Amino acid sequence: MTSHRLNDFLIFFSIMFIIMIIHLRNRNMAEAVLVIDMLKDFVYGSLKCERAQRIIPSIKKLLNEARNKGVPVIYVGDAHLPKDPEISLWGPHAMKGTEGAKTIDEIAPTEKDFVLEKRTYSAFHETGLDLLLRQLNVKTVIITGLHTNICDRHTAADAYFRGYKIKIPEDCVDSFSEKDHIEGLEYLRRIYGAEITNSENIIKSWREKEART
Ligand code: ZN
Repeated sequence: MTSHRLNDFLIFFSIMFIIMIIHLRNRNMAEAVLVIDMLKDFVYGSLKCERAQRIIPSIKKLLNEARNKGVPVIYVGDAHLPKDPEISLWGPHAMKGTEGAKTIDEIAPTEKDFVLEKRTYSAFHETGLDLLLRQLNVKTVIITGLHTNICDRHTAADAYFRGYKIKIPEDCVDSFSEKDHIEGLEYLRRIYGAEITNSENIIKSWREKEART
């Protein structure tokens, strides 16, 4: 092999190696957006949360951008049966098949999205979410919706136990009070290593990722 040919070979090999690394990096960084309990009963109905209004525009923007970038959007909302444990604690809410269990019109799912039902605080508990995330090769879940210190927290716990990384855009989650929200965020960061960020930073990271590929 002449030194010329060896050079060509090394350049070719280097390029292939870089392409492989970029591919693996993108694959490892696969993300999905979870939308938790943004349902009519949670925003306007029996469990009305005034503060939920704040996060609707941010979630809407994040979801539109996710769909454009091919990031899966997965809705997981309550669809309760009367004997579910939460009903005695909170009263009937988001009962399966009722209007209150539907996603609010402002951020209704599109045909591209996935919609799962849950019967406990956690979006993972007996919902098939873990199987879906594995099929989509997702490694990082971006948790949005209600409430920072309740369903988002229990969903984060189950995500953490299953080895997913967690990102929380703080302008896309909320609770009944500022105190619950702030303490909820701190708990997610400290106990599950969640990255507390915002929707703008996440959208920026998707745009940068797209520019690199
Ligand atoms: Zn519930």
